[in-house]
Amino acid sequence: MLFLVGSVVYFVYEGELATPNWVLLATAVLLLWFSFAMPTYCDFSTVRGTPCRNRVNGKLRGCHQHGRDKRDAVWRALFRVRNPGEFFRVRWHSSAVAAPQSVAGAARAVTRSTTQGTRDATIFVCTILSTVAGVVGTVASVLGLWK
Ligand SMILES: [Zn+2]
Repeated sequence: MLFLVGSVVYFVYEGELATPNWVLLATAVLLLWFSFAMPTYCDFSTVRGTPCRNRVNGKLRGCHQHGRDKRDAVWRALFRVRNPGEFFRVRWHSSAVAAPQSVAGAARAVTRSTTQGTRDATIFVCTILSTVAGVVGTVASVLGLWK
């Protein structure tokens, strides 16, 4: 389907863009699809050490159980910092359960392996770079900076 849409767009706008721009644009669209739309599995490491088998769209997205954990892993792997969204999370607990030792806003201990996050972060960086390159190439081509 993506290939069909890409082919139609290519033939409609064939003379508008230079070939390198088409390559950059196609790469950006492909990486965006791979990261956020491709039907795949969650693959977040479960407590049993096996990958989660819930269906998701995109390698960077997690299932309904692991979406937040997967985003946190990407932040840790990519920027070596906690997800900024963690600072706005409020932890609630029952009075029967001892209060957590961590400070408010510290949603969970950072003890999980970042191997999976590193792979996801690599995909994320490639997606961003390719998208920026595609947009810059398209703008440069429209402005006639290269032919
Ligand atoms: Zn999952």
